[in-house]
Amino acid sequence: MTQPMSVASAAYDLLGIGFGPSNLALAIALEEFGQQRGQPLRSLFIDRQADYRWHGNTLVAQSELQISFLKDLVTLRNPTSPFSFVNYLQSQGRLADFINLGTFYPCRMEYNDYLRWVAGHFKEQSRYGEQVLRVEPVLNGGRPIERLQVISRDAEGREHARQTHALALSTGGTPKIPAVFQGLRDHPRVFHHAQYLQSMAGLPCGQGQAMRIAVVGGGQSAAEAFIDLNDSYPSAQVDLILRAAVLKPADDSPFVNEIFSPEYTDLVFNQPEAERDRLINEYHNTNYSVVDLDLIERIYGIFYRQKVSRQMRHGFLCRRRIEAARADNGQIELRLNDNATGAVESHRYDAVILATGYERSSHKQLLEPLSEYLGDFVAGRDYRLAADPRLQAPIFLQGFCQASHGLSDTLLSVLPARAGEIAEALFQLPQTRRAKSLAAVAVGV
Ligand SMILES: Cc1cc2nc3c(=O)[nH]c(=O)nc-3n(C[C@H](O)[C@H](O)[C@H](O)COP(=O)(O)OP(=O)(O)OC[C@H]3O[C@@H](n4cnc5c(N)ncnc54)[C@H](O)[C@@H]3O)c2cc1C
Repeated sequence: MTQPMSVASAAYDLLGIGFGPSNLALAIALEEFGQQRGQPLRSLFIDRQADYRWHGNTLVAQSELQISFLKDLVTLRNPTSPFSFVNYLQSQGRLADFINLGTFYPCRMEYNDYLRWVAGHFKEQSRYGEQVLRVEPVLNGGRPIERLQVISRDAEGREHARQTHALALSTGGTPKIPAVFQGLRDHPRVFHHAQYLQSMAGLPCGQGQAMRIAVVGGGQSAAEAFIDLNDSYPSAQVDLILRAAVLKPADDSPFVNEIFSPEYTDLVFNQPEAERDRLINEYHNTNYSVVDLDLIERIYGIFYRQKVSRQMRHGFLCRRRIEAARADNGQIELRLNDNATGAVESHRYDAVILATGYERSSHKQLLEPLSEYLGDFVAGRDYRLAADPRLQAPIFLQGFCQASHGLSDTLLSVLPARAGEIAEALFQLPQTRRAKSLAAVAVGV
């Protein structure tokens, strides 16, 4: 049954799709700019999650932030902001204790709590539990389009339509499922690492029953899942299956880390396309298919102790290409090809965890109704999508500009600077486009 659609009658200055760290940083920048300039913008951020969580299904006990806490939502833009991680620690009564830890890398659970603490400040400007379905143009009788309409659906199936003069699309990555597993997408025991905690909660190894589990992937998520399975599920026997010959360490040495500074964005953006590609490839091993060295050492230690005890609980299946995957009699059978020898082997598992990364294309799906105005989805230096002159309402992208703005684009590194740049661009828009009043009315459709 079609539910009535609620339609907001007046337009926002900005609608944000997704309320992860990128749009949180933007919400702060807008608030601070608005206070400084005495003219707040009317904004709203919509997120499909029921409440604030940062990659909530991956928050295992041992996972740590892979970036200094000083690269929080604000410090690189405004070190005096009350929304800093240090101020969060102070507000929780843990500042001195955190200093005693002697680390720049808080655990991800704590960082999630920091982000929730910030999000709590923006209750009035956020709507949770609404999935944005699409963004449409508000046609203007042949004149340039100055408003966009964002359609979302809430948990009760009710659709909402809101209009805005500008959009910040920050919906993050979408779990990547390799082609060989496409036929098992709905299998309850084949799941992406993005669903790790929720899916593990339903498995019998949680009650101590023996299970054989495959973890597919050679990056940070695979390593974290392997360690968590080893530590938290003693009845699980785990095979780590990876294409590479070894687990490779993430390069976070100081000179290399400079590529994540806000200034580096200018350098990448100003290169010709071929040079941008070269730079991104050269530093790929800072973020993709690599693992923090301390986790590699822990995993090596686990396998070494197996050798000492001669009890081979887990397997390290490197150089393996997965040729086929099929469900069979309650299990999942994987056919593996050894890249070095060409030998083919089959293994049966009770569950398969795909730590196979994320793709970034949800912006194109959500903006599909605007595609005739947007060409190749190319963003300018201020993250505004290039559009033909018929579309005047600006659309800013966060997290979808790696090819043009560099490797920091999908990470936490440049959030404060990027948010500041987008906020600046929003405040430069003509006053006439700003919202005046807002009254939500419900109408049946
Ligand atoms: C497990 C994991 C750990 C990571 N750790 C680090 C790290 O330590 N350091 C680092 O720099 N980077 C890390 N990253 C990279 C990560 O992309 C950034 O940390 C950060 O989450 C990017 O923020 P974001 O707001 O752009 O995207 P996200 O955090 O992905 O947030 C996107 C939000 O949009 C919402 N959303 C998506 N689609 C819709 C829709 N259609 N309608 C409404 N809402 C929607 C989602 O619910 C989500 O809340 C990690 C990534 C993962 C997956």
